Amino acid sequence: MTATDLGLPAVRRPAAHDPARPADHRLIDSFGRVATDLRISLTDRCNLRCSYCMPAEGLDWMPRGEQLTDDELVRLIRIAVRDLGVEELRFTGGEPLLRRGLDGIIAAAAMLRPRPDISLTTNAVGLARRAAALAAAGVNRLNVSMDTIRPERFATITRRDRLADVLEGLAAARAAGLNPVKINSVLLRGVNDDEACDLLAFAIANGYELRFIEQMPLDAQHGWERTEMVTAGEILELLRERFTLTPDPVERGGAPAERWLVDGGPAVVGVIASVTRPFCGACDRTRLTADGQVRSCLFARTETDLRALLRGGASDGEIADTWRQAMWAKLAGHGIDDPGFLQPDRPMSAIGG
Ligand code: SAM
Ligand code: SF4
Repeated sequence: MTATDLGLPAVRRPAAHDPARPADHRLIDSFGRVATDLRISLTDRCNLRCSYCMPAEGLDWMPRGEQLTDDELVRLIRIAVRDLGVEELRFTGGEPLLRRGLDGIIAAAAMLRPRPDISLTTNAVGLARRAAALAAAGVNRLNVSMDTIRPERFATITRRDRLADVLEGLAAARAAGLNPVKINSVLLRGVNDDEACDLLAFAIANGYELRFIEQMPLDAQHGWERTEMVTAGEILELLRERFTLTPDPVERGGAPAERWLVDGGPAVVGVIASVTRPFCGACDRTRLTADGQVRSCLFARTETDLRALLRGGASDGEIADTWRQAMWAKLAGHGIDDPGFLQPDRPMSAIGG
Protein backbone atom coordinates (compact mmCIF):
# COMPACT_ATOMS: atom_id res chain seq x y z
CA MET A 1 0.00 0.00 0.00
CA THR A 2 1.28 3.47 -0.71
CA ALA A 3 1.33 6.24 1.86
CA THR A 4 -1.75 8.41 1.91
CA ASP A 5 -1.23 11.76 0.24
CA LEU A 6 -1.31 14.76 2.56
CA GLY A 7 -3.07 16.95 0.02
CA LEU A 8 -2.59 20.66 -0.24
CA PRO A 9 -5.13 23.03 1.25
CA ALA A 10 -6.13 26.23 -0.45
CA VAL A 11 -3.70 28.98 0.48
CA ARG A 12 -5.18 32.35 1.13
CA ARG A 13 -2.97 35.12 -0.27
CA PRO A 14 -2.30 37.89 2.24
CA ALA A 15 -5.40 40.06 1.89
CA ALA A 16 -5.34 43.82 1.85
CA HIS A 17 -6.48 45.41 5.11
CA ASP A 18 -10.26 45.05 5.37
CA PRO A 19 -11.56 48.55 6.17
CA ALA A 20 -14.18 46.98 8.50
CA ARG A 21 -11.41 45.58 10.75
CA PRO A 22 -10.88 47.88 13.75
CA ALA A 23 -7.41 49.19 14.56
CA ASP A 24 -6.65 46.70 17.34
CA HIS A 25 -3.27 45.05 17.81
CA ARG A 26 -4.86 41.77 18.91
CA LEU A 27 -6.10 38.81 16.85
CA ILE A 28 -9.78 39.68 16.76
CA ASP A 29 -12.36 38.25 14.41
CA SER A 30 -15.50 39.71 12.96
CA PHE A 31 -17.62 37.93 15.61
CA GLY A 32 -15.78 39.65 18.48
CA ARG A 33 -13.65 36.70 19.58
CA VAL A 34 -10.02 37.36 20.51
CA ALA A 35 -7.38 34.68 19.92
CA THR A 36 -4.86 34.54 22.77
CA ASP A 37 -4.00 30.83 22.58
CA LEU A 38 -1.52 29.79 19.86
CA ARG A 39 -1.26 26.10 18.92
CA ILE A 40 2.01 25.36 17.16
CA SER A 41 2.64 22.17 15.21
CA LEU A 42 6.37 21.45 15.36
CA THR A 43 6.38 18.52 12.97
CA ASP A 44 3.89 16.32 11.13
CA ARG A 45 5.96 13.20 11.87
CA CYS A 46 4.99 10.64 14.46
CA ASN A 47 6.38 7.45 16.01
CA LEU A 48 2.91 6.00 16.71
CA ARG A 49 0.15 5.24 14.21
CA CYS A 50 -3.11 5.76 16.11
CA SER A 51 -5.84 4.20 14.01
CA TYR A 52 -8.13 7.25 14.26
CA CYS A 53 -5.31 9.60 13.23
CA MET A 54 -3.24 8.06 10.45
CA PRO A 55 -2.86 4.86 8.42
CA ALA A 56 -0.53 2.01 9.43
CA GLU A 57 2.03 2.94 6.79
CA GLY A 58 2.22 6.57 7.94
CA LEU A 59 1.99 9.57 5.65
CA ASP A 60 4.20 11.37 3.15
CA TRP A 61 6.00 13.52 5.71
CA MET A 62 6.61 17.17 4.99
CA PRO A 63 10.03 17.70 3.32
CA ARG A 64 12.46 19.29 5.81
CA GLY A 65 12.98 22.38 3.67
CA GLU A 66 9.28 23.19 3.86
CA GLN A 67 9.33 23.14 7.63
CA LEU A 68 10.05 26.41 9.42
CA THR A 69 13.56 26.55 10.87
CA ASP A 70 13.88 27.05 14.62
CA ASP A 71 14.83 30.72 14.03
CA GLU A 72 11.81 31.30 11.75
CA LEU A 73 9.51 29.68 14.25
CA VAL A 74 10.85 31.65 17.19
CA ARG A 75 10.44 34.87 15.21
CA LEU A 76 6.77 34.10 14.58
CA ILE A 77 6.25 33.21 18.24
CA ARG A 78 7.85 36.50 19.24
CA ILE A 79 5.54 38.44 16.92
CA ALA A 80 2.54 36.57 18.31
CA VAL A 81 3.39 37.29 21.94
CA ARG A 82 4.86 40.77 21.61
CA ASP A 83 2.63 42.27 18.92
CA LEU A 84 -0.58 40.21 18.79
CA GLY A 85 -1.45 39.62 22.43
CA VAL A 86 -0.94 35.84 22.47
CA GLU A 87 -0.74 34.65 26.09
CA GLU A 88 -0.60 30.85 25.78
CA LEU A 89 1.55 28.62 23.60
CA ARG A 90 0.85 24.93 23.10
CA PHE A 91 3.41 22.87 21.18
CA THR A 92 2.01 19.84 19.42
CA GLY A 93 2.26 17.90 16.14
CA GLY A 94 2.61 15.13 14.87
CA GLU A 95 4.78 14.21 17.79
CA PRO A 96 6.53 17.31 19.18
CA LEU A 97 9.20 15.26 21.01
CA LEU A 98 10.51 14.28 17.54
CA ARG A 99 11.36 17.90 16.73
CA ARG A 100 15.08 18.51 17.01
CA GLY A 101 15.63 21.76 18.83
CA LEU A 102 12.45 21.43 20.91
CA ASP A 103 14.12 22.41 24.19
CA GLY A 104 15.75 25.46 22.57
CA ILE A 105 12.47 26.61 21.00
CA ILE A 106 10.76 26.33 24.38
CA ALA A 107 13.59 28.15 26.16
CA ALA A 108 13.39 30.99 23.61
CA ALA A 109 9.61 31.23 24.07
CA ALA A 110 10.03 31.30 27.85
CA MET A 111 12.30 34.36 27.54
CA LEU A 112 9.51 36.43 25.99
CA ARG A 113 7.71 39.11 27.99
CA PRO A 114 4.95 39.02 28.98
CA ARG A 115 5.96 35.42 29.72
CA PRO A 116 3.54 33.13 27.86
CA ASP A 117 2.10 30.03 29.49
CA ILE A 118 3.80 27.10 27.73
CA SER A 119 2.34 23.63 27.34
CA LEU A 120 2.99 20.50 25.31
CA THR A 121 0.70 17.82 23.89
CA THR A 122 2.61 14.56 23.42
CA ASN A 123 2.20 10.81 23.10
CA ALA A 124 4.89 10.57 25.85
CA VAL A 125 7.07 8.02 24.03
CA GLY A 126 10.58 9.01 25.15
CA LEU A 127 9.24 11.56 27.63
CA ALA A 128 10.67 9.77 30.69
CA ARG A 129 14.22 10.83 29.93
CA ARG A 130 13.25 14.34 28.77
CA ALA A 131 10.60 15.59 31.17
CA ALA A 132 12.98 17.27 33.63
CA ALA A 133 14.85 19.13 30.85
CA LEU A 134 11.57 20.25 29.27
CA ALA A 135 10.35 21.59 32.60
CA ALA A 136 13.70 23.37 33.07
CA ALA A 137 13.41 24.88 29.57
CA GLY A 138 10.05 26.41 30.49
CA VAL A 139 7.20 23.95 29.91
CA ASN A 140 4.48 24.68 32.48
CA ARG A 141 1.91 22.02 31.69
CA LEU A 142 1.70 18.82 29.74
CA ASN A 143 -1.03 16.74 28.09
CA VAL A 144 -0.36 13.09 27.35
CA SER A 145 -2.50 11.13 24.92
CA MET A 146 -3.34 7.65 26.17
CA ASP A 147 -6.48 5.81 25.15
CA THR A 148 -6.10 2.63 27.18
CA ILE A 149 -4.22 1.18 30.14
CA ARG A 150 -4.13 -2.31 28.63
CA PRO A 151 -0.84 -3.08 26.83
CA GLU A 152 -2.32 -5.30 24.06
CA ARG A 153 -5.04 -2.78 23.38
CA PHE A 154 -2.51 0.04 23.29
CA ALA A 155 -0.57 -1.92 20.67
CA THR A 156 -3.75 -2.40 18.63
CA ILE A 157 -4.84 1.24 18.74
CA THR A 158 -1.42 2.85 18.19
CA ARG A 159 0.07 -0.06 16.22
CA ARG A 160 3.12 0.12 18.51
CA ASP A 161 3.75 -1.79 21.77
CA ARG A 162 4.77 1.27 23.82
CA LEU A 163 2.35 1.59 26.76
CA ALA A 164 5.16 1.08 29.28
CA ASP A 165 7.04 4.12 27.85
CA VAL A 166 3.90 6.24 28.09
CA LEU A 167 3.30 5.28 31.72
CA GLU A 168 6.94 6.05 32.55
CA GLY A 169 6.65 9.37 30.73
CA LEU A 170 3.56 10.33 32.70
CA ALA A 171 5.29 9.56 36.00
CA ALA A 172 8.39 11.52 34.94
CA ALA A 173 6.27 14.54 34.02
CA ARG A 174 4.66 14.49 37.44
CA ALA A 175 8.06 14.05 39.14
CA ALA A 176 9.40 17.04 37.15
CA GLY A 177 6.75 19.20 38.82
CA LEU A 178 4.58 19.73 35.74
CA ASN A 179 1.13 20.43 37.05
CA PRO A 180 -1.47 19.50 36.10
CA VAL A 181 -0.48 16.51 33.98
CA LYS A 182 -3.52 15.82 31.85
CA ILE A 183 -4.38 12.66 29.96
CA ASN A 184 -6.33 12.89 26.70
CA SER A 185 -8.30 9.81 25.70
CA VAL A 186 -10.34 9.12 22.58
CA LEU A 187 -12.93 6.37 22.99
CA LEU A 188 -13.58 4.18 19.97
CA ARG A 189 -16.73 2.12 19.74
CA GLY A 190 -16.10 -1.57 20.31
CA VAL A 191 -12.38 -0.97 20.87
CA ASN A 192 -11.90 0.80 24.22
CA ASP A 193 -15.31 2.25 25.12
CA ASP A 194 -15.57 -0.32 27.92
CA GLU A 195 -12.55 1.32 29.56
CA ALA A 196 -13.94 4.78 30.38
CA CYS A 197 -14.25 4.07 34.12
CA ASP A 198 -10.91 2.25 34.37
CA LEU A 199 -9.15 5.18 32.70
CA LEU A 200 -10.74 7.61 35.15
CA ALA A 201 -9.90 5.44 38.17
CA PHE A 202 -6.30 5.18 36.94
CA ALA A 203 -6.02 8.95 36.47
CA ILE A 204 -7.46 9.74 39.90
CA ALA A 205 -5.27 7.15 41.66
CA ASN A 206 -2.15 8.65 40.07
CA GLY A 207 -2.94 12.35 40.32
CA TYR A 208 -3.54 12.99 36.62
CA GLU A 209 -6.49 14.88 35.14
CA LEU A 210 -8.39 12.92 32.52
CA ARG A 211 -10.23 14.41 29.56
CA PHE A 212 -12.12 12.48 26.93
CA ILE A 213 -12.08 13.86 23.38
CA GLU A 214 -14.85 13.07 20.93
CA GLN A 215 -13.45 11.54 17.78
CA MET A 216 -13.38 14.15 15.02
CA PRO A 217 -13.39 13.97 11.21
CA LEU A 218 -9.69 14.75 10.94
CA ASP A 219 -8.12 11.38 10.23
CA ALA A 220 -5.89 11.10 7.18
CA GLN A 221 -7.88 8.11 5.88
CA HIS A 222 -11.23 9.98 6.01
CA GLY A 223 -12.75 7.00 7.85
CA TRP A 224 -14.66 8.99 10.49
CA GLU A 225 -18.40 8.38 10.67
CA ARG A 226 -20.79 10.40 12.81
CA THR A 227 -22.85 7.35 13.68
CA GLU A 228 -19.78 5.42 14.84
CA MET A 229 -18.27 8.02 17.19
CA VAL A 230 -18.76 7.72 20.95
CA THR A 231 -20.58 10.91 21.94
CA ALA A 232 -20.07 13.03 25.06
CA GLY A 233 -23.52 11.94 26.22
CA GLU A 234 -22.51 8.29 25.99
CA ILE A 235 -19.18 8.93 27.73
CA LEU A 236 -20.94 10.57 30.69
CA GLU A 237 -23.42 7.72 30.86
CA LEU A 238 -20.57 5.20 30.95
CA LEU A 239 -18.79 7.12 33.74
CA ARG A 240 -21.96 7.40 35.79
CA GLU A 241 -22.07 3.61 36.07
CA ARG A 242 -19.24 3.92 38.64
CA PHE A 243 -18.90 7.60 39.58
CA THR A 244 -21.11 10.50 40.62
CA LEU A 245 -20.55 13.50 38.35
CA THR A 246 -21.59 17.06 39.20
CA PRO A 247 -20.80 20.12 37.06
CA ASP A 248 -17.54 21.82 38.09
CA PRO A 249 -18.50 25.29 39.38
CA VAL A 250 -15.23 26.78 38.06
CA GLU A 251 -15.98 29.08 35.11
CA ARG A 252 -15.15 27.35 31.79
CA GLY A 253 -14.10 30.45 29.82
CA GLY A 254 -12.58 29.52 26.44
CA ALA A 255 -11.56 26.03 27.67
CA PRO A 256 -12.67 23.26 25.31
CA ALA A 257 -13.40 20.76 28.09
CA GLU A 258 -16.64 20.70 30.05
CA ARG A 259 -15.58 19.56 33.51
CA TRP A 260 -17.29 17.50 36.17
CA LEU A 261 -16.38 16.94 39.80
CA VAL A 262 -15.95 13.22 40.42
CA ASP A 263 -17.68 11.93 43.55
CA GLY A 264 -17.90 15.48 44.91
CA GLY A 265 -14.29 16.42 44.03
CA PRO A 266 -11.56 17.46 44.23
CA ALA A 267 -10.91 15.07 41.31
CA VAL A 268 -12.35 16.27 38.01
CA VAL A 269 -12.96 14.77 34.59
CA GLY A 270 -13.33 16.71 31.36
CA VAL A 271 -15.11 15.98 28.09
CA ILE A 272 -14.16 17.80 24.90
CA ALA A 273 -17.29 17.49 22.81
CA SER A 274 -16.18 19.27 19.65
CA VAL A 275 -18.78 17.46 17.57
CA THR A 276 -21.92 17.18 19.69
CA ARG A 277 -21.48 20.27 21.90
CA PRO A 278 -19.29 22.65 19.88
CA PHE A 279 -17.72 25.56 21.73
CA CYS A 280 -16.83 27.68 18.68
CA GLY A 281 -18.55 30.76 20.16
CA ALA A 282 -15.92 30.94 22.91
CA CYS A 283 -12.94 29.87 20.77
CA ASP A 284 -9.72 31.75 21.55
CA ARG A 285 -7.34 29.77 19.28
CA THR A 286 -5.07 30.56 16.41
CA ARG A 287 -2.94 27.84 14.82
CA LEU A 288 0.42 27.63 13.10
CA THR A 289 1.46 24.58 11.08
CA ALA A 290 5.03 23.28 10.91
CA ASP A 291 5.37 24.81 7.43
CA GLY A 292 4.32 28.26 8.61
CA GLN A 293 0.65 28.42 7.63
CA VAL A 294 -1.81 30.20 9.90
CA ARG A 295 -5.14 28.45 10.40
CA SER A 296 -8.00 30.11 12.22
CA CYS A 297 -9.63 26.75 13.06
CA LEU A 298 -8.82 23.01 13.13
CA PHE A 299 -11.43 22.62 10.43
CA ALA A 300 -10.45 25.63 8.29
CA ARG A 301 -10.27 24.98 4.58
CA THR A 302 -8.01 27.95 3.89
CA GLU A 303 -4.61 28.88 5.27
CA THR A 304 -2.47 32.00 5.25
CA ASP A 305 1.16 31.62 4.25
CA LEU A 306 3.49 33.31 6.74
CA ARG A 307 6.49 31.29 5.59
CA ALA A 308 6.45 33.03 2.21
CA LEU A 309 6.46 36.38 3.99
CA LEU A 310 9.30 35.30 6.31
CA ARG A 311 11.40 34.05 3.42
CA GLY A 312 10.46 37.00 1.22
CA GLY A 313 11.93 39.57 3.60
CA ALA A 314 8.70 40.92 5.15
CA SER A 315 8.94 43.05 8.28
CA ASP A 316 7.54 41.95 11.65
CA GLY A 317 4.80 44.56 11.19
CA GLU A 318 3.74 43.12 7.81
CA ILE A 319 3.68 39.58 9.20
CA ALA A 320 1.66 40.68 12.23
CA ASP A 321 -0.88 42.46 10.08
CA THR A 322 -1.28 39.48 7.74
CA TRP A 323 -1.91 37.27 10.79
CA ARG A 324 -4.53 39.75 12.07
CA GLN A 325 -6.25 39.74 8.68
CA ALA A 326 -6.27 35.93 8.61
CA MET A 327 -7.98 35.81 11.99
CA TRP A 328 -10.45 38.57 11.12
CA ALA A 329 -11.80 36.24 8.43
CA LYS A 330 -12.39 33.35 10.88
CA LEU A 331 -15.77 31.68 10.35
CA ALA A 332 -18.40 31.48 13.09
CA GLY A 333 -18.12 27.71 13.53
CA HIS A 334 -16.67 24.48 12.15
CA GLY A 335 -19.92 23.34 10.58
CA ILE A 336 -19.43 19.59 11.14
CA ASP A 337 -23.19 19.24 11.32
CA ASP A 338 -23.82 21.24 8.12
CA PRO A 339 -24.92 19.07 5.19
CA GLY A 340 -22.15 20.59 3.06
CA PHE A 341 -19.37 19.96 5.62
CA LEU A 342 -16.07 19.07 4.00
CA GLN A 343 -13.19 17.62 5.98
CA PRO A 344 -10.03 19.77 5.70
CA ASP A 345 -7.33 18.44 3.38
CA ARG A 346 -4.71 18.37 6.11
CA PRO A 347 -5.18 15.62 8.70
CA MET A 348 -4.98 16.33 12.44
CA SER A 349 -1.35 15.16 12.55
CA ALA A 350 -0.31 17.84 10.04
CA ILE A 351 -2.43 20.63 11.55
CA GLY A 352 -1.51 20.13 15.20
CA GLY A 353 -4.15 18.76 17.50
N1 SAM B 1 1.16 13.18 18.95
C1 SAM B 1 0.72 13.99 20.03
C2 SAM B 1 -0.34 13.29 20.84
O1 SAM B 1 -0.87 12.28 20.38
O2 SAM B 1 -0.63 13.80 21.92
C3 SAM B 1 0.22 15.35 19.60
C4 SAM B 1 -0.61 15.42 18.37
S1 SAM B 1 -2.16 14.55 18.41
C5 SAM B 1 -2.77 14.92 16.79
C6 SAM B 1 -3.09 15.56 19.54
C7 SAM B 1 -4.36 14.96 20.08
O3 SAM B 1 -5.24 14.79 19.01
C8 SAM B 1 -4.19 13.61 20.74
O4 SAM B 1 -4.75 13.67 22.03
C9 SAM B 1 -4.98 12.68 19.86
O5 SAM B 1 -5.60 11.65 20.60
C10 SAM B 1 -5.99 13.62 19.24
N2 SAM B 1 -6.54 13.16 17.98
C11 SAM B 1 -5.90 12.73 16.88
N3 SAM B 1 -6.78 12.42 15.90
C12 SAM B 1 -8.00 12.68 16.40
C13 SAM B 1 -9.32 12.57 15.88
N4 SAM B 1 -9.57 12.14 14.64
N5 SAM B 1 -10.34 12.94 16.68
C14 SAM B 1 -10.12 13.37 17.95
N6 SAM B 1 -8.90 13.51 18.49
C15 SAM B 1 -7.85 13.15 17.72
FE1 SF4 C 1 0.81 10.31 16.50
FE2 SF4 C 1 -0.62 11.82 18.15
FE3 SF4 C 1 -1.64 11.01 15.75
FE4 SF4 C 1 -1.28 9.20 17.67
S1 SF4 C 1 -2.68 10.98 17.74
S2 SF4 C 1 -0.65 8.99 15.49
S3 SF4 C 1 0.50 9.96 18.68
S4 SF4 C 1 0.05 12.40 16.06
